[in-house]
Amino acid sequence: MNRGRHWPEGFSSCVEHIMQEIKPAYERIERTRLRNQLAMLSAFRSAGVRESDFSCSTGYGYGDRGRETLEKVYANYFGTESALVRIQMVSGTQAISQALIALCSPGKELLSVTGQPYDTLLPTVEYLKRWGVRYRCYDVWESGLDELPVFRDTAVVFIQRSGGYRPGRSLGVEKIGEICKRAKELNQKVVCLVDNCYGEFVQEVEPTHVGADVVAGSLIKNPGGGLAPSGGYIAGREDLVRKVAEVATAPGLSGEVGPSLGFNRLLYQGFFLAPHVVAESLMGMVFFARFMAELGWETRPAWNEPRSDIIQSVVFRDRELLITACKCIQRASPVDSAVTPEPWDMPGYEDPVIMAAGTFVQGASIELSADAPIRPPYAMYVQGGLVREQVLEACAEIYRALGKQPSSWKTQKELLQIEQ
Ligand SMILES: *Cc1c(COP(=O)(O)O)cnc(C)c1O
Repeated sequence: MNRGRHWPEGFSSCVEHIMQEIKPAYERIERTRLRNQLAMLSAFRSAGVRESDFSCSTGYGYGDRGRETLEKVYANYFGTESALVRIQMVSGTQAISQALIALCSPGKELLSVTGQPYDTLLPTVEYLKRWGVRYRCYDVWESGLDELPVFRDTAVVFIQRSGGYRPGRSLGVEKIGEICKRAKELNQKVVCLVDNCYGEFVQEVEPTHVGADVVAGSLIKNPGGGLAPSGGYIAGREDLVRKVAEVATAPGLSGEVGPSLGFNRLLYQGFFLAPHVVAESLMGMVFFARFMAELGWETRPAWNEPRSDIIQSVVFRDRELLITACKCIQRASPVDSAVTPEPWDMPGYEDPVIMAAGTFVQGASIELSADAPIRPPYAMYVQGGLVREQVLEACAEIYRALGKQPSSWKTQKELLQIEQ
């Protein structure tokens, strides 16, 4: 089966029987992909994309039709009035942080309803507090919707779609719709802002189709389709997007400036491919979950559970095993396969983090990558995969290093010591 490195004994037959078993899950993913890909095509056609939109603008980037049309394509897909899609936004953190800063105001409250925001956004919360924004953290997972603390002074309800480093806690879009509806019953003027990272195209609807006012995310995750070299986006109500644009550039300049610097085609093409690429990565993760369960590990979600983001977590309950698994994923990468990842103190994260990312675009997690904060329960978060075949190779590496079907993690550890 594999003309490159030989797969370990027993691995091919393991792949074959898993492939048979996961077929129904693949069919579900293919149905979603079909719907989303056609919606994407339609978003392009309605925006009137032309080849000349791929040309380059520099300096201020005034009148860059390509940039404006790209933003129209995003707005069409997300069903919003407006969008801001910029290579100058370094990442999801910047897009979401700018949205928070633009939409919150002193004396008013920011309510995060999915517990604390993602690690890299916590400094933004501290920054807002220093500016007099009141902050409240609520957990819809624990406390439900009945007691949702939205009051007259609540300006922004912040919702994180993906579970992030909290396995099993990604929100389905339907649930996001319920939160938005409830929040607006309590305060009609409240703005519902969704951190959409890792969620785009996983389902057939987006939060903005079910009541969210603004979504924001990263172009080196799902919507970049693996081609965007950097960038972030926000999409939503026109007045709100304009406010964010004023923070992103300057009040008075807003979204009217911003050179595309020759990157337009990659952003268009990546967005066009994104429903396909996200489906590909979901198929990879379904296989990965089934495979790791075969080896005896705890996986979340399980291979046959519904998914609302592209993240797959595997719990190792052991530091060394976790690090070994991350190294296996790096080894199976098309880029930097000879690099050995080590835990390090990444800016923005509380604990040391180990990251396997043998990616074409630095840190792009729509490409097959794994990261893990070095803290109990020693869970690895795997996501992406431009091609699902790479996941098989990563599994072969893990099979080689960790062996098959232990009865418990202790046996796994013994196995590992024998290997070394
Ligand atoms: C990745 C991520 C972010 C931040 O995105 P970066 O592109 O890494 O800055 C924010 N929120 C969630 C849920 C994420 O997964």
